[in-house]
Amino acid sequence: MSGGVAVEDLVVFVGDGAEAGGGAGGGAAAVAGGGVGPVLPMREAAVNVADLAVTRGDGVFESIGVIDGRFIELPRHLARLKHSSAMLDLPEPDVEAFERAARLALAAHAPQRELLVKLLHSRGIEGADRASGWVQVLAGTDHSAARSTGIRVVTLDRGYRHDIAQTSPWLLQGAKTLSYALNKAALREAARRDADDVIFVSTDDVVLEGPTSNVVVRHGDVFRTPRPDLGILAGTTQAAVFETLGALGFETAEAVITPAELATADGLWLLSSGRLLAPVRELDGRPLPVDADFTRTLLERTFGL
Ligand code: PLP
Repeated sequence: MSGGVAVEDLVVFVGDGAEAGGGAGGGAAAVAGGGVGPVLPMREAAVNVADLAVTRGDGVFESIGVIDGRFIELPRHLARLKHSSAMLDLPEPDVEAFERAARLALAAHAPQRELLVKLLHSRGIEGADRASGWVQVLAGTDHSAARSTGIRVVTLDRGYRHDIAQTSPWLLQGAKTLSYALNKAALREAARRDADDVIFVSTDDVVLEGPTSNVVVRHGDVFRTPRPDLGILAGTTQAAVFETLGALGFETAEAVITPAELATADGLWLLSSGRLLAPVRELDGRPLPVDADFTRTLLERTFGL
């Protein structure tokens, strides 16, 4: 590998992926037998224009936080990649190959306190009947301000009822699909409303999730998160933080939560793999209490940050 590779964002193709990528390296991408490789700088990695990930957003992904070279919650991410793939009737991803690719790419990257590793599993090139996949290592955004001083959040109507996963499973709620255009649109709407992020609410007044995060609300010593059967993504960060809260002696619960309950919270956070824990300091223009010390304790005990 050339010396230049290690300082850039990197890509590794997964599977018999000569067809999936190749870029400057052409088709001879896959490491024989291993189904993984090689490591390429992002600018040299190419996905076929006919790949359904590109043309239809027809695939699934995971974003995994890395702190001091350690993957955060890797088994939960791999399990969710499999689960999302099953929901989309995709070929089962070779999670061992994905893990090997992730470790290979991470080892090649210049060390940084925080990095983000993305796994993408696509239905592949239209008509080829073969999945494609790749792993990216990205230098993480600096989330220190969001984690300490907190974020401003608006609630937005998600446009469906809380029971959508049961009534309309073909809408794929709860799968981490590549189709994130509306999630990004919601974040732009937040910016238009002078806020940093969004909490989606169902048409029948149930708190759901953020466009890229889960909600955790505190009342006294009880911490609750929306139930995963409410058409939301089951969060790996939320699961890890609930383990810490349990170990600290707090009560935790998956629940049906109303927006009115958020307004009276003793603490409210958005949880996600890159940013980890962001306390909400303002909800729909009204201030909420932020306990910076407690958030720091959770970050340290859960993620060693
Ligand atoms: N909900 C949605 C819609 C997401 O996209 C994400 C993560 O990107 C989450 C929740 C949080 O999941 P995790 O903590 O596993 O990153």
